[in-house]
Amino acid sequence: MDSSWENGAVWVAGNPRRTCGRLPYHIRTPLPSPVPPMTPSEATAKYFHRAADLLRLNDRQRTSLITPYREIKVECGIVRDDGTLGTFVGYRVQHDNSRGPMKGGIRYHHQVDIDEVNALAQLMTWKTAVVDLPYGGAKGGISVDPKTLSAAELQRLTRVFTQKLADVIGPYSDIPAPDMGTNAQTMAWIVDEYSKFRGYAPGVVTGKPVELGGSLGRDAATGRGVLFAAESLFADLGKQVKDFTYAVQGFGNVGSWAARLIHAAGGKVVTVSDVTGAVRNPAGLDIPKLYAHAQQAKGVKGFAGGEAFPAEDILADAVDVLVPAALGDVLTAKNADRVKAKIILEGANHPTDIEADAILQAKGVTMLPDIFANAGGVTVSYFEWVQNVQMYRWDEDKVNAELKRTMTKAYADLKATRAKHGCDWRTAAFALAVERVNRASDLRGL
Ligand code: NAD
Repeated sequence: MDSSWENGAVWVAGNPRRTCGRLPYHIRTPLPSPVPPMTPSEATAKYFHRAADLLRLNDRQRTSLITPYREIKVECGIVRDDGTLGTFVGYRVQHDNSRGPMKGGIRYHHQVDIDEVNALAQLMTWKTAVVDLPYGGAKGGISVDPKTLSAAELQRLTRVFTQKLADVIGPYSDIPAPDMGTNAQTMAWIVDEYSKFRGYAPGVVTGKPVELGGSLGRDAATGRGVLFAAESLFADLGKQVKDFTYAVQGFGNVGSWAARLIHAAGGKVVTVSDVTGAVRNPAGLDIPKLYAHAQQAKGVKGFAGGEAFPAEDILADAVDVLVPAALGDVLTAKNADRVKAKIILEGANHPTDIEADAILQAKGVTMLPDIFANAGGVTVSYFEWVQNVQMYRWDEDKVNAELKRTMTKAYADLKATRAKHGCDWRTAAFALAVERVNRASDLRGL
């Protein structure tokens, strides 16, 4: 291991990048302790307070808006397939319900903890408010690596978690959805378990299988929302999707749909990466063929229609538009100054950490922030819930048309907020959201 802090790598004052060279032992000086990275809650709070400053909110309003409505921790015990007892800790944080029932995913991941769930719940409050859905925000999860459980164990765990939350979730109080490590099947088990307590209630969760009340168009919704967000921005620049080149990091649900829809609209997607590797074709990748390859080969690696390159280099690729659609915190102080794209569309949640955000803003990069750019998913989740509570189905064209209307309107609202406060897109998104939630809260007299 040759790259840790302890073995001679140094930081150069004023330049956050680590130098590649090593100093001789006799002139090495003790290294400063690295500043620990901000926790998700701290980063979210920073953006919140920046917006609250613009809105001149007082301390009472700030405290009331940032404090979660309810934090729940439950122990979920299940009989494992081998007859032993397994116990797992689950969380649900309900952040704010001033604008409507709370909404947010359930994540199964071994790193789930209360700080992360708190930050993500708060982000859902702001995300639903940016696109003006009649919802608040929540998030939940179980600290478990789902790959270590059988399907039967996952079903038992989901049912126990649902039993423990049954009193506080519901179509008019808190509506979970899939997130990392959970899927449409998980939601189907929740509907079934919840219905034992409260009667048939498909609207208790979204992201269900279509056969159980899921919405057509939900699968593509987040990627399609990224496309609609981009189209609005480009129209303002007098441009279209076909006028730019693109790099897409991540080729799962969000990335593959964003790439397919950008390609279909005439955009040249030059580079794509996923956990298996990265491919580049300066003439533009054949995205439908890449998708077929990735389905079959379980990743983009080995695609014959492009050359392979190191996956981490995608963030510094010489393209016009970068779409991070994989993990959080991929753009950091260590790589932000290498970014060449002039536009970043945040498909993933929190792909840009707070230091990278400052560096990229200073470089003049236009960033459409996650709480707007990837809100297509929760928007179509809202349409799913509307269909469930009305017991009426929409066709896919209606879903897509309503999604476009919602994203386009949100873009116009963001643009107006940005002009009013003279700020960047991320700050505008937080300001718009915080203002809406604060107003609802005031009107309710909370
Ligand atoms: P997914 O699991 O379907 O896909 C993730 C992709 O990222 C995969 O292609 C994986 O190979 C790739 N990946 C993982 N590690 C990588 C690495 N080190 N380098 C490059 N690629 C890597 O997940 P998803 O649903 O597409 O979600 C992606 C992001 O979008 C997450 O941040 C998620 O929170 C966010 N998001 C998803 C939705 C949604 O509706 N699915 C909505 C809003 C936000």
